[in-house]
Formats: sequence, C-alpha cells, structure tokens
Amino acid sequence: MNSVVTRFAPSPTGLLHAGNYRTAVFAYLFAKHSEGKFIVRIEDTDAARSKPEYEANIIDALTWLRLPADEQYRQSEHRPRHRELLEKLITDGMAYISKEIPKNPGDREKVIRFKNPGGAITFTDVIRGDITTDIGDLGDFIIARSLDEPVFHFAVAVDDSDEGVTHVIRGADHISNTARQMLIQRALGFPTPLYAHLPLIMDSNHKKLGKRSGAKAITEYRDEGILPEAMLNYLAFLGWNPGDVREYLSREELVQAFDISRVQKGSAIFDEVKLFSVNQHWMRKLSDDDFITMSDLGKLALRSDIVLKVVPLLKERAKTFKEAREMLTGELSCFFNKPELDKNLLLAKEPPERPGIAISALKGLLEPIKALPKGVSAEVVKTIIMPFSDAEEAKGKGGRGAVLWPLRYALSGVERSPDPFTIISILGTDESISRISKAIAILEG
Ligand code: GLU
Repeated sequence: MNSVVTRFAPSPTGLLHAGNYRTAVFAYLFAKHSEGKFIVRIEDTDAARSKPEYEANIIDALTWLRLPADEQYRQSEHRPRHRELLEKLITDGMAYISKEIPKNPGDREKVIRFKNPGGAITFTDVIRGDITTDIGDLGDFIIARSLDEPVFHFAVAVDDSDEGVTHVIRGADHISNTARQMLIQRALGFPTPLYAHLPLIMDSNHKKLGKRSGAKAITEYRDEGILPEAMLNYLAFLGWNPGDVREYLSREELVQAFDISRVQKGSAIFDEVKLFSVNQHWMRKLSDDDFITMSDLGKLALRSDIVLKVVPLLKERAKTFKEAREMLTGELSCFFNKPELDKNLLLAKEPPERPGIAISALKGLLEPIKALPKGVSAEVVKTIIMPFSDAEEAKGKGGRGAVLWPLRYALSGVERSPDPFTIISILGTDESISRISKAIAILEG
C-alpha cells in the first residue's frame, strides 16, 4: 500500500482563524497516525491578495501548534510546471484559449478554458460517502487567465498530484470544487486522490466561523497565553472525538487515537469558553516553575518568592496566561502591595448589636497569628483561626463573618480576594501582623 500523504494548503490572503487550522490538525493527525507525510503548501497563486506577512503568520502558527511539515512548498514556485501542463492540455485538445468579451474593466480578452466532456462525476468522500456532480452544469470552466496565471483549481489539481497527495483533507466548503479538480487530473492522466471534507465550523451564533463573524486570528490566542497543547486538543475535537470518555489528549495520544472514520458530518461549534477551559486543564498540568516561565510572570518585577507561592492560586483561577498576569496586578495584587484600607469597609460585617467586635477580633488574633511557625500552610492557619470565629458565632449570630471579614479585608484591602488563611500563609506572619495592626490603628483612630 502507498503510504499516506496529506497536505494543508492555506492561501496567505489574511490572518487565519482557529477553524482554518482545524484542517491542518486533522491532516496532520491522519498522516501521523498512518505514519505518513504531512505537506504544507502555501497557495499564493492570487498574487494581488497574497502577502508575505500572512504567509509568515501561517508558518508561525504551525510552528506554535507544533505541526511540522515534512515538506513545504509555495505554489507560485510551480509556475513553470503549471505552464507546461496547461500547454499540454491545449495541445491534447482538452483545453483551449478562449476569446472573451470583457464584461468589467480589467477582464481578460483571452483566458484558458477546460473542454467540459459533460456527464456526471461521482467520488466517494471518506467522511460523506458518494457525492455526484453534474459536470454539464459547470460549462467550459476557466483553468487559467494566461499560461502563467493558472487559477486555483488547476494549480491545486496539479500540485496534489505532483506532491503525491493521497488524501485531500479540507473543509466542506471545497466539496463543490472537487469535480473540477478531478476532471483536470483525469485529463492530465493523474490518479485521483481520496477526498475527505471536514464539517463546517460555526460560531456560537451558528454562523459560519469567519472573519466576518469576528473570528480571531489563531495567533491572537497564542498571544493571550493559550497553550499550543490546549489549542491542538481543542481543535482535534471540532468534529471528531476518540469514541471514549477522554476529553484531554496530548499530541501523542491524539496521533494514536485519530481515526478519520469517526469524523462527523454535521457542523461543529467553535466555543471560546470551552477552549479556555481546555486551556486551564493544560495550564494546571505545568510545574510551577514552567508556569512562571511560560506565562512571563518573571517579567512583572514582583517578588519572585511570593510569585512562586501564588502560582497554585493562579492555576485555580486563571484560564490563560494573560489572565494570570492580570491577576497578579489586579485581584491578587495584595500579595505584592500593602493595602489601602477604608474604615467603613473594615466595619462592613459588624452586626449593629455587637459594636466593637471587629477591633476586638483583630486584636485577639494577633497573638495566635504571631505564634504560627514559618512556612505554615493555609490549612493549619485555618485550624487556628476558625475556632476563634466559631467562638464569636456562638456568642451571637453574625460573629463568624464579623471576625473573618475584617481579617480578610485588613490583609487584602479588596472586597474579593483569596481567603484569609491562604493570604496569611503566603504573606507570612510578620507582614500579616503588620497589616492587621494597621487595620486596628484605623479602627481606633
Ligand atoms: N487554498 C485553499 C484555501 O485556502 C485550500 C485548497 C484546498 O484545500 O484544496 O481555501
């Protein structure tokens, strides 16, 4: 059996979104599952719309996703070959130079058309089964604007064959192109590859995912701190699943599990919320040191010993590295900056019938907190403080909050923060005592 060769053939005419790369992921996984070759072909035949920066972005994205090409081509480099085969088709009477009546300014007076044999063409799509197209409906379609300007269908048909592509895996929006490309291949005496048209990808409003519906370039997700493992995992599940309960598969597991017969026909939904939760899974699997390095937390000029202690909190909360960075300067900034306290907020949970409970609680906690050993865990801090707040609760309703709220606020200076036990375990006793003493002074002032 010939070994499998697949290709990803993007046009560098814009920044590609995640849905475009889903095609690359499936083509890659299928090739690697079969120990075959994965080719990347930049389809830059549309010289007016193709831009080097878009091509560079595609290569960057594939490198980031770690979908290395076994061979890489640029379609425009095949012009001489395209010309040779256009001439052959004309000589063989399969195509002809057609005189046109220009309808719009810039239209050509001559183009090269394929002589349509008529009838019907059927191919068996690997995912969708038999698809039949009435060829007569296509007319004598254009295959080149001149000998040096083949159109998309011609270049694709020739390159797929020249590159030995065995399986054309691409989006369902290309189904209608297949008959033309097969006709061209047959006319040239080339074998027809197998075709697998992947389900369309919709956005959360059930509109086709695309620039018009606001799809982000995949590299924006990279820049927000989505991990490549997470994006790969997520994209592989857009229209496919391994047929068991697993949701999180590594690259190796995906390669091993990928079975093209499990690709669904119906469209798939690109859901950013789901992508972020898959990302959180992969972020949590990183070691704390890797988390710091990969999220660039070191560049924030914050105390590195505290950053290391805060990483478990970030793993619990942040869904992207960007969010993690924002948390360190936002909701978790109390670990790095002394809080500004507001007396009214310190008293916010004091029951009116028990005035003075906040200050007495804070004072009462000073000694037990001072007595905590260095490097104490949040769990141990909790076992010291909870009996204290439970005792206040026993004296009258609202006592627990009247202890824990001013304590947490005194430590953090913000209304939402991690619990006071965690803050104390991270700040250490000296800094905690200093913050609580400041709160007591404000309450006494
Ligand atoms: N260059 C085409 C595109 O970007 C893909 C061609 C193909 O996969 O056959 O839509």
